[in-house]
Amino acid sequence: MSARSNHSADDMGIGAFQTTIEDTYFDRDSARGVDRTFTWFVEEVGELAKEIRRDPRDTQRLTEEMSDVLAWLTTLASLLDIPMTECARRYADGCPKCHRTPCEC
Ligand SMILES: [Zn+2]
Repeated sequence: MSARSNHSADDMGIGAFQTTIEDTYFDRDSARGVDRTFTWFVEEVGELAKEIRRDPRDTQRLTEEMSDVLAWLTTLASLLDIPMTECARRYADGCPKCHRTPCEC
């Protein structure tokens, strides 16, 4: 484990999260490749959809499923050499289209 992985959950920004996911899974994810990793990501989105339908008040299960979706999306970004910080930054000034908060599109 690298020193950069030692973040408490409370102070982990999305860049640190991506580093941790890479430290934890990158070798395996690289071997699997983009296409199969994308399939896993979509399956996790499906699991989130099922949990929302099953019980939208079960915040513990929803947190787990959202965490899995975020982890798989982040893995996919790493395989495609996309920094998640850039993905988040796109929304830093509000709506990326109208640049308003709240959106006025
Ligand atoms: Zn807008």
